[in-house]
Amino acid sequence: MGTELDILPISSWLKDTSNPLLIAGPCSLETEEQAMTTAKELVKDNRVSVFRGGVWKPRTRPGTFEGVGSVGLEWLKNIKAETGLPVGTEVANAAHTEEALKAGVDVIWIGARSTGSPFVVQEIADVLKGTDQVVCIKNPLTPDVQLWMGAFERLNQVGIKKLVGIHRGFTPFGESKYRNYPSWRTMIEFRRLFPEIPMICDPSHIAGDSELIYEVAQKSFDMGVDGLMIESHIKPECAWSDKDQQLTPEALSGVLDRLVIRYARSSNKEFDNQLQDLRDRIDSLDSELLETLSGRMELVKDIARYKKENSVTALQMDRWSTMMSDRVDLAQKLNLDEFFVKILFQLIHEDSIRQQTEMMKDK
Ligand code: PEP
Ligand code: MN
Repeated sequence: MGTELDILPISSWLKDTSNPLLIAGPCSLETEEQAMTTAKELVKDNRVSVFRGGVWKPRTRPGTFEGVGSVGLEWLKNIKAETGLPVGTEVANAAHTEEALKAGVDVIWIGARSTGSPFVVQEIADVLKGTDQVVCIKNPLTPDVQLWMGAFERLNQVGIKKLVGIHRGFTPFGESKYRNYPSWRTMIEFRRLFPEIPMICDPSHIAGDSELIYEVAQKSFDMGVDGLMIESHIKPECAWSDKDQQLTPEALSGVLDRLVIRYARSSNKEFDNQLQDLRDRIDSLDSELLETLSGRMELVKDIARYKKENSVTALQMDRWSTMMSDRVDLAQKLNLDEFFVKILFQLIHEDSIRQQTEMMKDK
């Protein structure tokens, strides 16, 4: 179970909440000119709420560009002064955090590689103690809800309340369409445990490909996220890191124009009433479903007694095969998804066999 956390909503710290939180900017700050030009283009779209730019870059392999370092914080200050945009960067240890605080960085985030390391999260938390810093926490590389939660707990324990989760996908095994596969199931489980934590999505690191950013961003709004972090670079093809997944500010605006933003609730009374009506009908069908399943299980028990008396096995492959193909045929006629019905009957059948072998245990 999750412990109760004391978290403030995004609206408590973001000035303009007429649009969802949108953190946009290059993967890495490369030169002051690249950073400033990108920011000046981005601020033209009033849907951009925070400018991002990595100055310390955790790279999987050494020998690649690891960020410009502290000088980038000066550039962020200048960008904030010129554009009025709040600015954000990633911190990965205590020293980064001290410097970012000193430079007045508005939003800091803990990257996927750091979230998975409790000592790193703790040293960052120790530096932040006593401040009211906004901190975003990306999911760890593996879909481990507990590890992700732990990072929120460590920060909340030192009094950090302006927290936001970022779903940036998980390292895939083998071939995958995405650089980091999204696990909506993990995100949903996380939100079930900590409904008070705002959650945004990072389609850039999920997709790894600028062509796929729109579809991942739309899916994330369909799943009820509160905003996005998207990488944007003035010249993506020349970027020093993550060049395949960055959008020009103009392309970013194009993606935003196409997105249908969905909200967790509606202020329309009529919608609420209709939704309630449909939910009531679903609730009553669900209770019929469970009663039917319970009746089915009673029959399974009768079968188990009968098989036991006649020394017949619990599992009978021929029956199982014909049953599965009959159910799939019927499901198709009823317009149900074949895969879903297969999984459903696998579960039902497994439980039926479990029940039968239990009953057959004693002589
Ligand atoms: C980044 O945001 O540039 C980054 C390094 O992300 P992640 O921690 O999600 O890999
Ligand atoms: Mn990146």
